[in-house]
Amino acid sequence: CGIVAYVGPKDAAPILLEGLARLEYRGYDSAGVVVSNRGLKVRKVKGRVADLAKAVPARFKGGLGIGHTRWATHGVPSDVNAHPHLSADQRVAVVHNGIVENATELRAKLEADGVVFASDTDTEVLAHLVARTVEDTASLEEAVRKALKSVVGTYGIAVLDAERPGEIVVARNGSPIVIGIGEKEMFAASDVAALVRYTRQVVHLEDGELAVLRADGFHTFASGGLETAKEPLTVDVEA
Ligand code: GLU
Repeated sequence: CGIVAYVGPKDAAPILLEGLARLEYRGYDSAGVVVSNRGLKVRKVKGRVADLAKAVPARFKGGLGIGHTRWATHGVPSDVNAHPHLSADQRVAVVHNGIVENATELRAKLEADGVVFASDTDTEVLAHLVARTVEDTASLEEAVRKALKSVVGTYGIAVLDAERPGEIVVARNGSPIVIGIGEKEMFAASDVAALVRYTRQVVHLEDGELAVLRADGFHTFASGGLETAKEPLTVDVEA
């Protein structure tokens, strides 16, 4: 339902929690965050963003992270089914808005290959698919792009890789993703409402596009892998 992502010099967790709170008006049943700092730290709960904030300890440090508010479509609302979802080796984390229509088929194939699932969500297949390609690809962007080739359905996603602690990949198909450009920090969200406290400079992804965010900037790509040129817009809304 709601996505927030941050990479920069500040601690990500408070920014993610603040952004998720601004997306509460859309409705949701659970919430979660992951930050990357020598491994992934995850907290996720059924309930409110305020409940999640209480579950996030003060030692939750790290300048890169993604957060989510979930409106369950596949799998009951629960702590385990809340996003982010991680690969079995805890290397890749994914948050997802939308529906993976062929999740049952993808899950059956992955399980036949020995992948053990932790949740009942359609989303979890995305974490395992990215994890399967991430070691053999030159970039996280390429791994996500390859994984998405087998996916039928709608998505706005944010992905991080514990082994690439400086970058976040976002992608969209039928579910919005907006990038927020800061001063030596970058944001992304499913809704500009989560970003306006931090920046007014934004770039909207088109369906089929992916983007890589690093603290010092971003690059956008078409689904075939060619880099696309995007002009930032200045949003004019009340913070
Ligand atoms: N289909 C996913 C799930 O049920 C994502 C739902 C959402 O958009 O929040 O977990």
